[in-house]
Amino acid sequence: MLLEKASEIGAHILSGAVLEPIAINELIPDWLSEENENRFEGATPAAGDRMRYLTEKSSVWLPAPPQMHNKGNYIISLSEFTKWLGDRAEEVGVEIYPGFAGAEVLYTSDGSVKGVATNDLGIARDGSAKDSFERGMEFHARITLFGEGCHGSLTKQVIKKYDLRRDSQPQTYGLGIKEVWEIDPAKFNKGSITHSMGYPLKADTYGGGWMYHFGENLVSIGLVVGLDYPNPWLSPYGEFQKMKMHPLYREVLEGGKCISYGARALNEGGFQSIPKVAFPGGALIGDTAGFLNVPKIKGTHTAMKSGMLAAEAGWEALQSENEGAVFLFDYESKLRDSWVWKELKEVRNMRPSFHSPLKLYGGVMYSGIEAFLLKGKVPWTFSHKTTDSAATKLADECEKIEYPKPDGKITFDILTSVSRTGTNHEEDQPVHLRVEDWDKHAESSYPKYKGLENRFCPAGVYEYVEDNTKDLGVRFQINAQK
Ligand SMILES: Cc1cc2nc3c(=O)[nH]c(=O)nc-3n(C[C@H](O)[C@H](O)[C@H](O)COP(=O)(O)OP(=O)(O)OC[C@H]3O[C@@H](n4cnc5c(N)ncnc54)[C@H](O)[C@@H]3O)c2cc1C
Repeated sequence: MLLEKASEIGAHILSGAVLEPIAINELIPDWLSEENENRFEGATPAAGDRMRYLTEKSSVWLPAPPQMHNKGNYIISLSEFTKWLGDRAEEVGVEIYPGFAGAEVLYTSDGSVKGVATNDLGIARDGSAKDSFERGMEFHARITLFGEGCHGSLTKQVIKKYDLRRDSQPQTYGLGIKEVWEIDPAKFNKGSITHSMGYPLKADTYGGGWMYHFGENLVSIGLVVGLDYPNPWLSPYGEFQKMKMHPLYREVLEGGKCISYGARALNEGGFQSIPKVAFPGGALIGDTAGFLNVPKIKGTHTAMKSGMLAAEAGWEALQSENEGAVFLFDYESKLRDSWVWKELKEVRNMRPSFHSPLKLYGGVMYSGIEAFLLKGKVPWTFSHKTTDSAATKLADECEKIEYPKPDGKITFDILTSVSRTGTNHEEDQPVHLRVEDWDKHAESSYPKYKGLENRFCPAGVYEYVEDNTKDLGVRFQINAQK
């Protein structure tokens, strides 16, 4: 059975992605076949890649590295695709419970995972029970697979409990911000895929943009910003708005309409940052284990394959073990023997190469050599120098960035964008983002970084407001539910 915290399968998934079909071809070989009456209908074959380096007003051709070649791939709405996969799973007997978030990991007395518990529902902001109150439920299983996406809260607990990071480097992250537009049909170029580097990001900030034409007159446009950016005045949301005003993108968007918006973190640590993925009673699958291929910006195929391998290992373990904790040793060895491992190992040095003294330029040069010549067959493995947060400089040392006012046509304010996310929350529910020690935060973090939370959050969740009762004149407030 499957617990999904979104109200329906796919509702928390960001749309408009390029799917490398290797895993789905293995899982459901006729997923596109005319003869399959339950085939997936929404796949646009990729038709041509282009890679550009952007300056503020123009763009320069760059060779697309092999990892960015999309021949044979499909542009899809990932939320539609997951919805379709959910239906296929139900057909073969999987019970799906949307609207239920795993909130607590349960353990047996021998220390293995026994399952998860969901939250109590219908609690007011002040903690009291509302008329709609429902007690959370416990779900027990001999094998619990955690597939919570990029930075799962239960995953963090099991990583700590079983010390799963003992042999790996820390995970590092990027933030992806994305919109889907319906554009003027005259500008639509079905299947076309554009990636860009450079403007609006400076050389000390890792990231890049994209635009994919798919479906009927739809484009997915977005920007990923590595969260090890040094300048705490930077706003990834503001950078994305600037990027849309670049002629390469603006000309396509003009006359069109933005129909959805979303943002999500992604794992950038790659091969070096994969923790141990199996523990007594369960395993980590997909992004929660960090299987995203960073140069490809693709993790759907690796997430699917890891789920398939964990399922196979689980099935075999359940055949041979009669009772007691199941340990999926076999999942780890299957992973090591799979194309997921090979693919992630091959690109392991590319992302960390952007920490060279030449920053963006060093990274592009090194990654080009790796991509075209070395193909990961080198005896060295670069480390991630620091965690993302350790890379943030003091606000007083950095140039303050002022972002242009949105024009309401191509660029938008954050609340307008949030209204396009399709998420909604009750006003009267407990705040789940909490500052552990506000006085400590106000004394140490605020003076150093001048409220960077306010700028990095793509949903405008954090806000600093005046508070004359405090010496520092500010109070930290979480102004929205997320
Ligand atoms: C901006 C951006 C662009 C991308 N573009 C591409 C692309 O073009 N191609 C590509 O292949 N990949 C792309 N990726 C990466 C891809 O989205 C991920 O690698 C992939 O979605 C990972 O799948 P997953 O199932 O591990 O995690 P997710 O897709 O995040 O799914 C996790 C699911 O678990 C649910 N969940 C989380 N916690 C709980 C809980 N405690 N209880 C219940 N449910 C829970 C979530 O609601 C969600 O539905 C992109 C990522 C980003 C951010």
